[in-house]
Amino acid sequence: MKKICVFCGSSLGKQNIYKETANELALFMAKNKIDLIYGGANVGVMKVIADTIMDNGGKAIGIMPKLLVEKEVAHEELDEMHIVSSMAERKELMIEMSDAFIALPGGFGTLDEISEVLTANQLRISDKPIGLLNIDNFFTPLLNFIDHCVSEGFVRKEHRRNIIVSSEIDDLIDKMDQYQPLSMGKWIDDIKQESSSN
Ligand code: AMP
Repeated sequence: MKKICVFCGSSLGKQNIYKETANELALFMAKNKIDLIYGGANVGVMKVIADTIMDNGGKAIGIMPKLLVEKEVAHEELDEMHIVSSMAERKELMIEMSDAFIALPGGFGTLDEISEVLTANQLRISDKPIGLLNIDNFFTPLLNFIDHCVSEGFVRKEHRRNIIVSSEIDDLIDKMDQYQPLSMGKWIDDIKQESSSN
């Protein structure tokens, strides 16, 4: 993995551990020559991770829609900045340019991005690993909800297993390195069969 797209909060969150772990991830990426792709902002955890990677010899690439640049939240010092026309185009370019995705704690923007890449994997528009860094169990309620979606028959078990989770950076990256994309055929056949038998 040469380029990892990190989804994270445009806020800092209430606990210091969010910022500290973003710093640790940035140091890990700089040390291992992994470029950061992210939303391009100069606010919240987004700014923390970009600044730390650049201060430690790594590379930060921002992808930002014009409307956010106009709101003056663009980070002016990045190694590269791609300005796109919409939030949808931003996510498309993030998927195209990155080798993998890691989500840190965040809000709706982060949840939207996680959901986008999980759906793209499910539809095999993308087959890149997706990891959630479960800092202080931040994502556990979301994972519980996804388990509920599985038990209610709306998310397939194999797609739930597609979500890579760890509370440790090294372990998350190891698991992401070992990721084997799912083949699409079977579950589409299953869905068609389920629908035709009702
Ligand atoms: P949130 O989790 O709601 O704070 O949103 C953060 C995520 O959504 C980031 O990964 C960004 O790509 C995108 N995003 C949301 N708000 C902003 C912002 N003010 N500036 C840049 N990107 C943002």
